Amino acid sequence: MYQTLILVLIFIFGAIIGSFLNVVILRYRSGRHLGGRSACYTCNKKLGISELVPIGSFIVQGGKCSSCSSRISWQYPIVEAITGFVFVFLFIRFSYLAFAMPALFLGLFAFYAVVLSILIVLSVYDFRHHVLPDQLVFLFASISFIGMFFITGDYIAFHLPSLSHILAGIILPAPFTILWYFSRGKWMGLGDAKLMIGIGFLLGLSAGLSAILIAFWIGALAGVLLIVFAPLLKKGKITLKTAIPFGPFLALGTAIVMLGEIDLSSLVLFLGGM
Ligand SMILES: [Zn+2]
Repeated sequence: MYQTLILVLIFIFGAIIGSFLNVVILRYRSGRHLGGRSACYTCNKKLGISELVPIGSFIVQGGKCSSCSSRISWQYPIVEAITGFVFVFLFIRFSYLAFAMPALFLGLFAFYAVVLSILIVLSVYDFRHHVLPDQLVFLFASISFIGMFFITGDYIAFHLPSLSHILAGIILPAPFTILWYFSRGKWMGLGDAKLMIGIGFLLGLSAGLSAILIAFWIGALAGVLLIVFAPLLKKGKITLKTAIPFGPFLALGTAIVMLGEIDLSSLVLFLGGM
């Protein structure tokens, strides 16, 4: 009971951060600053407190603006819910430290919450615009790079990272940069390769490679499902040529590996057991 309550509170905290991430995603590169109350994009009415409750407001208002009844994007509740669940999984991942070493727990939770939040923003932005913005990609790489000097496993202390860990940020994106170059950007965006720099610094060689492999598997599965079910959705425009943004899958692979403590050996064991 007590544990459930904590998880619910963490989910609510994550959903609130998620609603902030929505604001970042929508205002990024739009020339609007991050301050100021949110308003309806159609009628410009400033949102009241009851309209700012993550997920809840969307459900209560039936996905419509309470003033002009125009549709509110599904992006809002989806990003809020995803961030809520990500924070819950992050809490579960480090919960064994929460009472024994609260400072360490808070440090690890805060670091990965920031990293995963950036990945959520990148994913949604890529999904909407088919672009991974350089600024955000390098912010992710920079934080991962700094983290490499302070975080080993589940511990925080300054140390020099191993050579393979540093090289992971160069080795992992290398083949995809070459692929990008020779396909002239058709098979792979350069943004995806740049994102792998941060993935390498964050996870190291073994886990980083696992994240990319998982991203390709889930991406391929999603691609097949899209082709099979597209006619049913009557969209009809989705073919093999429809570019599926790969950033969200890389982010998902990274989150799965990070939260599930997966590396190449566990991946091989998993495949062997199938
Ligand atoms: Zn409105």
